Amino acid sequence: MSQTNIESIVIVGAGQAGASAILELRGNKYAGKIILVGDETHLPYERPPLSKEVILNPSDTKIEILSEQKLADLNVEVIRGNGVVKINSDAHSIELKNGDVVAYDKLLLATGGAARRLPNFDALGKHVYTLRNLEDSQALVPMLQAGRRIILIGGGVIGLELASSARFKDCAVTVIEMGSMVMGRCSPLILSEFLLEQHRAQGVDVRLETKIANCRLDGEEVVVTLASGEELRADAVVYGIGIVPNAQLAIDAGLEVDVAIKVNQDCQTSNSDIYAAGDVATQLRDCGHHRRVETWENANLQAGIFARHVMGVEHPKANPAWFWTDQLDINVQFVGDMAASEWHVRGEMDAAKGADNSFVMYGVTDGQIVAGITVNAGKEMRHLKKMISKNVVFEMEKHLDITQDLRKIA
Ligand code: FAD
Ligand code: NAP
Repeated sequence: MSQTNIESIVIVGAGQAGASAILELRGNKYAGKIILVGDETHLPYERPPLSKEVILNPSDTKIEILSEQKLADLNVEVIRGNGVVKINSDAHSIELKNGDVVAYDKLLLATGGAARRLPNFDALGKHVYTLRNLEDSQALVPMLQAGRRIILIGGGVIGLELASSARFKDCAVTVIEMGSMVMGRCSPLILSEFLLEQHRAQGVDVRLETKIANCRLDGEEVVVTLASGEELRADAVVYGIGIVPNAQLAIDAGLEVDVAIKVNQDCQTSNSDIYAAGDVATQLRDCGHHRRVETWENANLQAGIFARHVMGVEHPKANPAWFWTDQLDINVQFVGDMAASEWHVRGEMDAAKGADNSFVMYGVTDGQIVAGITVNAGKEMRHLKKMISKNVVFEMEKHLDITQDLRKIA
């Protein structure tokens, strides 16, 4: 029995949040039973490399988060390839696909999300791909060959990271985006326009405000007809148009769900013995609204919040949210509120310099630094984080002066 009197914690979903929860529980001295249940056959692995390194360098990329040995050392019982199909919250148990029943004292739902579907494309049956898991990524490796024509639907992170990987492999790439900008859900316009220029300069044909009217197979080609009547022909189509949280278990169990599972600031659902973390959760924020954050860091942070809450340990003050993307040899890191009302560039933003660009951006609202972006300047990120946490007032001359050391003015 652990010091908390919690005998058994069951984690559903062997992904980023699930793996992180194990480390956080043991790190916070939880000595009871941990059972990790995953529907995939793999041990927990990182998803960020799936659109990047796994495609470009499949044999040399390590993505495993917890090895079999590490899980054994942490005394975790692992059930793989056998998803959870039902939660019996009154009985404090879950039911697995094979009919087994597992009891819990506390349950963590870390089931992530699934690629949002485009049924008319799925109906084509072949040459159409999505990207969420390792098998999806591995399926793209032989398909992305030099000279192949690839249409990417959705100019979000999946679309642009895959456009980058496909260009590195000398494919002919078209990106079709319905909205008026790329990375529209997570980037300010100024950075979006910079990235758009980078992709176009590298030969990616990016079509904005473009709707698809129809798709069909013509032999081994996919034919995509745009609303304008133009026909595009490709060897393959990959679509990345967002995710749908895997929240069905919670819905069936009567938990509060609004697309994602609603959790409070402690990651607790409407049932106090059931928690949710990562892409499947929408968390109550200081502003009083629930918000979904679909990033690697958020999955780890929420797993930590869950673990500390069940152990009765206080949470440290939350840092501003951070994530990154790698496209065309450009590393971009984002922190804080991307809806900041104005943006200022420190250094030179010169689209013509391509991957040689290196600059920092401040997002400012009501005179205060509330967000930051680094472009090939990741070492400056921690200074931006500090400025946001300290509510630093933006001073144009000081903050844009590249002779000033950011470390000293943070
Ligand atoms: P996941 O990691 O998806 O894990 C959920 C697990 O639960 C999966 O294994 C799933 O199969 C399993 N599961 C679902 N239902 C059940 C069930 N009923 N029973 C048992 N198991 C179940 N973020 C960044 O910040 N930077 C990046 O560069 C970045 N790149 C990315 C690239 C790709 C291709 C993808 C797909 C995501 C990327 N992300 C990135 C996002 C980041 O990986 C996710 O936010 C993170 O993985 C979410 O963790 P999670 O644990 O909530 O979900
Ligand atoms: P996303 O970032 O939400 O972007 C989807 C894009 O597709 C949006 O711009 C959306 O436009 C557009 N879209 C939607 N329907 C469309 C249609 N029918 N035709 C053309 N465009 C359409 O989602 P994603 O790129 O699919 O990524 C999926 C998940 O993986 C997310 O959770 C994401 O965070 C994660 N991921 C993260 C990273 C990273 O952080 N570096 C990298 C890869 C993946 P609207 O916004 O106008 O709907």
